[in-house]
Amino acid sequence: MPVLVMKFGGTSVADLARIRNAAQKVKREVARGHDVIVIVSAMSGRTNELVGWVEETSPLFDAREYDAVVSSGENVTAGLMALTLQEMDVPARSWQGWQVPLMTTSAHSAARIEEIPRANIDAKFAEGMRVAVVAGFQGISPEGRITTLGRGGSDTTAVAFAAAFDAVRCDIYTDVDGVYTTDPRIEDKARKLDKIAFEEMLELASLGAKVLQTRSVELAMRYKVKLRVLSSFEETDETSGTLVCDEEEIMEQNVVSGVAYQRDEAKMTLISVADRPGIAAAIFGPLAKAGVNVDMIVQNISEEGRTDMTFSCPVNQVARAQKAMEDARTSGEIDFHDLVADTDVAKISVVGIGMRSHAGVASTMFDALSREGINIKVITTSEIKISVLIDRKYMELAVQALHDAFELDNAA
Ligand code: ASP
Ligand code: MG
Repeated sequence: MPVLVMKFGGTSVADLARIRNAAQKVKREVARGHDVIVIVSAMSGRTNELVGWVEETSPLFDAREYDAVVSSGENVTAGLMALTLQEMDVPARSWQGWQVPLMTTSAHSAARIEEIPRANIDAKFAEGMRVAVVAGFQGISPEGRITTLGRGGSDTTAVAFAAAFDAVRCDIYTDVDGVYTTDPRIEDKARKLDKIAFEEMLELASLGAKVLQTRSVELAMRYKVKLRVLSSFEETDETSGTLVCDEEEIMEQNVVSGVAYQRDEAKMTLISVADRPGIAAAIFGPLAKAGVNVDMIVQNISEEGRTDMTFSCPVNQVARAQKAMEDARTSGEIDFHDLVADTDVAKISVVGIGMRSHAGVASTMFDALSREGINIKVITTSEIKISVLIDRKYMELAVQALHDAFELDNAA
């Protein structure tokens, strides 16, 4: 029988009534002739609570025990979902990661999936089980310890199962009814997209449209898994939600698909560093080692062998970045006059695969911002994305202005 993967996020399994609601959707797909693999998250709020308990018990916790505790939320929902399905006369069985076994690396709290052997679950399907309910977010290391895949990791579990079992589709049920052209809380004309290309979703996911874990999209793109995002709180059919798919499957396409934002950015400028070969490596090596996620980088015009280097990073990493730079100065790796941090900036990006074949996106973007009197501090571009740093107080205005300028409320 064709396999369908259905993933239910935390709000979709937040209590017993919602688990029953989700189970109804599963039962319907079984009736349509699918063998179903259901991936469940922990009940909403539970993982945060577990993380809190770990941190309170042991601030410098052993990551193996963090995983032992934090993975447990999913075990509860997997068992409850299997019981609920059984009560509805659907032959179902729950699986924890180690029982599959979902093999991962030993990078505790950020493990990567290595392999999902099908034999155990296939054997149960062959015996008449119709639904395998799998605890998301967890696996087992080569050492035989429980691992977790990083926050939001159940999405990645779901896509990995869809790839391993050649699923017809991977449906991600959540509390929104799809992927939008921008955040509807900021722009009420935001429009739900019927389809979005993997590359665009990847940019939007990593830019802060928090619908899917970034790694799940990377995985779906690599294995060409058809991924669908839809609401568990509405009546849905085959056409509901947003399909994340190969760009060849998208016929009509706006040049720009969406506007994303990242509220808590910081702009850091190293004033007057030596302009010499190796200087970028000497700056960004220590930042990487210190775990600073550098995003945009601009090297300014140089004068008499000195230059300014500007980069952006999340606001909560500013202290770490400052320390890394001071340490590098003390050890003589770099020298600079000053390190200036601007912690009141936000990043706004427009994303669209249509940019590959259409000129003028940058000028439309800059025009729209200038009409609102918004000053651009840093610009970076890629093949399908243009990002700018602006003052945070203009973030909402900028999102709205760009949504208008690219007429994103109208479908192509
Ligand atoms: N429960 C985990 C988390 O909250 C995994 C997930 O829901 O995807 O991060
Ligand atoms: Mg999630």
